[in-house]
Amino acid sequence: MEPVMNIDGLSTEFFTEEGTVRAVDNVSFKIGRGETVCIVGESGCGKSVTAMSVMGLVEEPGGRVTGGRIGFQGEDLLRLDKNSLRSIRGHEIAMIFQEPMSSLNPVMKIGEQIMEPLSVHLKMNKKQARSRAIELITQVGISRPEQIMGSYPHELSGGMLQRIMIAIAVSCSPKLLIADEPTTALDVTIQAQILDLLRGLKEDSGMSILLITHDLGVVAEMADYVIVMYSGQIVEEGGVVELFQNPQHPYTRGLLKSKPVMGQRLEELYSIPGQVPSPLALTPSCYFHDRCGHCMPVCRTRQPLLKETGNGQKVSCWLYEEAELYV
Ligand code: SF4
Ligand code: MG
Repeated sequence: MEPVMNIDGLSTEFFTEEGTVRAVDNVSFKIGRGETVCIVGESGCGKSVTAMSVMGLVEEPGGRVTGGRIGFQGEDLLRLDKNSLRSIRGHEIAMIFQEPMSSLNPVMKIGEQIMEPLSVHLKMNKKQARSRAIELITQVGISRPEQIMGSYPHELSGGMLQRIMIAIAVSCSPKLLIADEPTTALDVTIQAQILDLLRGLKEDSGMSILLITHDLGVVAEMADYVIVMYSGQIVEEGGVVELFQNPQHPYTRGLLKSKPVMGQRLEELYSIPGQVPSPLALTPSCYFHDRCGHCMPVCRTRQPLLKETGNGQKVSCWLYEEAELYV
């Protein structure tokens, strides 16, 4: 089946005072219909920038998508004009963020904010939009929807606001929902409820989800397919079961080792030594080499390529290359 989205060779750069930073470096992946793809990695690895690039939210003069193709419904999103992109955004591709407050208008009632995309994208009249908004609020698990319609954002809790953001995001039945750390700011109980809600909505509607997270617990709950990013590149990818059972890249293994397990004391928690390298100081090498316990001479001078290793997994690491290739 045709994937919903086909990202091919995406690269995005930011222009800083110290120089140009390649935040996303030649990233390719597909999102199937009804599939949840999770991008996981530490902060600063390029996950959010990948999502922003897809949504057309990287803009000059700060940054620019410098290469690649984002195939969606037969078109390349990177070559669409602003108006066409705007009509796709919030309609066929919707997005939710970590901080719902930042995307809601503080001086506009919740009801109006849910009704807006319904009238803009679906051309509903006021009455239709109102009754659909009430349905949506109920659908995301909030009781007394009429009362909520008349509330302002500051009157609701973080969990409620995230539910409202989800209601707005799914209001126009998007084919793809991009969720960037949607539960990171919430406490654990609410987090589980929001993930349940997203899963339920996905099952009912058949939409696809691109979920950005640093949390492997969230990945385990939600993902069909996992992409592990490091320093702007994909270092490993594969089906969620395969990847958790047989992580191949030393970075993926480190992430899995540092995932808290129930009953474990915090001070026993493993953390990967060192830090993500400065994007301004990258040299042709495996970008993980300073932190890797398996580092070999070749790792410091040549970049490994992302290659299939069987089981549908791909990994970018010299450990999986034929020995004679790296002398
Ligand atoms: Fe470690 Fe080398 Fe593999 Fe990089 S390429 S992850 S340094 S073994
Ligand atoms: Mg981020």
